[in-house]
Amino acid sequence: MIAEIHERARRLIDARLVEGISSAEGAWLEAHLAECAECGARARSTEHALQFLGALAVKIDPAVVAATQARVQLRARELQEKQARMRTLWIVGGLSWVCGAITAPLLWEVIAWVGRRFELSQAVWVATFAICWVAPASVVGGIIAWRHSRTAAVRSEVGTWER
Ligand SMILES: [Zn+2]
Repeated sequence: MIAEIHERARRLIDARLVEGISSAEGAWLEAHLAECAECGARARSTEHALQFLGALAVKIDPAVVAATQARVQLRARELQEKQARMRTLWIVGGLSWVCGAITAPLLWEVIAWVGRRFELSQAVWVATFAICWVAPASVVGGIIAWRHSRTAAVRSEVGTWER
């Protein structure tokens, strides 16, 4: 019976701090706390713990929240643009390979004809064909690498300004 009384008091201590209790329950609890040292100590320690947690609550400057939201939105936009650029790059790369495959026999004939005309060794004109066939992809790859490094440099410069 006594254990049930203390249990009720503990439930009301917690409920009073979280959701509130009726005035009758409050009166009963105060009367019990006045005569029960154990439940009184529990009520005080619970209140102290809640006060401590309240003091720990971080207050965030609305300007910081707005700046963070803006950065997240900017980053999302950058990722969307990057996806669109990559899609375009894949399409251009695919077209480049198709064009390369279609024009390879013609390029081969032209370079072979030049090799025979100027009496070049077969190794020279075959190497020339390989270089000519690979050159467009190499130039495009170089341009992409250069643009990527330039974008990264601009981004790191912007990041330095924002700090
Ligand atoms: Zn008690």
